Amino acid sequence: MQNVFLVGLMGAGKTTIGRILARKLGLRFIDSDHEIEARTGASIPWIFEIEGEQSFRRREAEVIRDLTSQDGIVLATGGGAILSADNRALLAERGTVIYLRASVNSILARTAHDKNRPLLQTADPRKKLEELTQQRESLYEEVADIVIDTGRPNVQSMVHTILTQLDSLACQASPHCATQAEPSMTELSTMLLNVDLGERSYPISIGPALLADGALLARHIAGPKVAIVTNTTVAPLYLAALRAGLAAQGKEVMEIVLPDGEEFKNWASLMQIFDTLLAAKADRKTTLVALGGGVIGDLTGYAAASYMRGIDFIQVPTTLLAQVDSSVGGKTGINHPLGKNMIGAFYQPRAVIADTSTLASLPARELAAGLAEVIKHGAIIDAAFFDWIEANIGRLVARDKGALAYAIARSCEIKSDVVRQDEREGGLRAILNFGHTFGHAIEAGMGYGHWLHGEAVGCGMVMAADLSQRMGFIDAADVARVRALVAAAGLPVTAPDLGTARWLELMEVDKKNEGGAIKFILLKPLGSPSITHAPHELLLETLAACVAPAA
Ligand code: NAD
Ligand code: MG
Repeated sequence: MQNVFLVGLMGAGKTTIGRILARKLGLRFIDSDHEIEARTGASIPWIFEIEGEQSFRRREAEVIRDLTSQDGIVLATGGGAILSADNRALLAERGTVIYLRASVNSILARTAHDKNRPLLQTADPRKKLEELTQQRESLYEEVADIVIDTGRPNVQSMVHTILTQLDSLACQASPHCATQAEPSMTELSTMLLNVDLGERSYPISIGPALLADGALLARHIAGPKVAIVTNTTVAPLYLAALRAGLAAQGKEVMEIVLPDGEEFKNWASLMQIFDTLLAAKADRKTTLVALGGGVIGDLTGYAAASYMRGIDFIQVPTTLLAQVDSSVGGKTGINHPLGKNMIGAFYQPRAVIADTSTLASLPARELAAGLAEVIKHGAIIDAAFFDWIEANIGRLVARDKGALAYAIARSCEIKSDVVRQDEREGGLRAILNFGHTFGHAIEAGMGYGHWLHGEAVGCGMVMAADLSQRMGFIDAADVARVRALVAAAGLPVTAPDLGTARWLELMEVDKKNEGGAIKFILLKPLGSPSITHAPHELLLETLAACVAPAA
């Protein structure tokens, strides 16, 4: 990591923010005024008083020249440092410059009792600050790579914004990093995407070997303690690498290894997490890291939402389904004996880190299940993406790394865009349930665990496409395309025979069913969604057409 230089008026918060930033980035913090005082053996007011401002500026230029020649520092510069063209050139050349832009009012409030600001020891400090702003604003902007307004609710959220912007600058500078999904992505590609939810915004990083990048993870971890939650299948594969990266960043790491399976996404596992955290005296600054598929992600997210009324968590998804779907969007929860995902909370992670290398060990059936949600994103939102999946399904099934990188990246873009518009499923977000009304009926009707969620959704999408055609929204060729693609992904396209009465009963208990009539997400046309009720006769026709007759 190269240097970070903070510029801005006195009292903008350069020292406070610089300290936290340095800790997060693993860099050394230096305050140029403190450095000048240390070298001179006199305080800044004294230097101004005895030697005058010019002499101070000379000493400052010397310090800036020395310090900017170092590597790995966060430097808070004095407010007037940028007056010198030489200083500006050094700062611009030798690091990333962040301008902390503060209003005169906020500076006045913060410096009211501070006698260490010689330039403000005047009869009318407001007037002085207005003059300084007038004189310096354009110079700060000229030298800055990033401008941050300091009128934010708290320092933490400002640091968070700065880190996000530093990440995207670093991404733009790197040859293999993209901020937009591109079909040309290769096995080396990484992508950085921001889920834009105001105060709850967070980055998604997608790429190979990210799991072991302790610095990337640590940037999203506020305190010294981390608890990794994973399961007995994933732990032997990836826990050591994740743990080592975090330990190298000086984090104290706890491990919570749960049994593997959907049946353990329950109250007992949640309590096991809480028991471990409490026994280890984990405080509110502890960060949970979910390492695993959707089961671990949902469970860990809900534990984070409720432990001490909410602590930070990071998603490190290791299944395709979790990387394209469940780790993004903040739905967390556990199952109840009377219904799946019935207990939970909307709670967003601080970051999602999707290490695409982990997909190498995924069983083929699980890979196919994840592809169902990828196909879903194309079918409901992006016809061009659907075309691309069709053309590349062979590469995806064969785990071509470039193809998977694009499929994951584009899926995350689509999902995060929907979530941004409707975080709590007031309306639009329901379109992500395409294929799920039928799918949930299959999962429940067959008994959970027999069909994977993605398998049931794959088949459910074929049924929803069939119903879309009966409603006159798409033609038979489109239904055939959906069926062929689902089949090519290795997913079932024929629905199990649960009996018509049972089918209807199961679809009616689906939690998306409001006010009696079942709401379907249908295609109108292929590539865009329609949320609608369907006439009973047409639904019966779809069931008759898609269900395999009992043997
Ligand atoms: P999962 O978490 O059960 O993982 C599938 C299997 O793969 C498990 O046996 C797991 O241990 C194993 N595994 C995980 N990573 C592996 C790897 N890299 N190599 C080898 N094996 C690995 O299942 P899933 O499909 O990831 O997630 C399904 C869950 O996600 C369901 O509980 C579902 O309700 C939930 N979900 C949540 C959302 C959401 O928005 N929160 C969305 C979709 C699904
Ligand atoms: Mg799903």
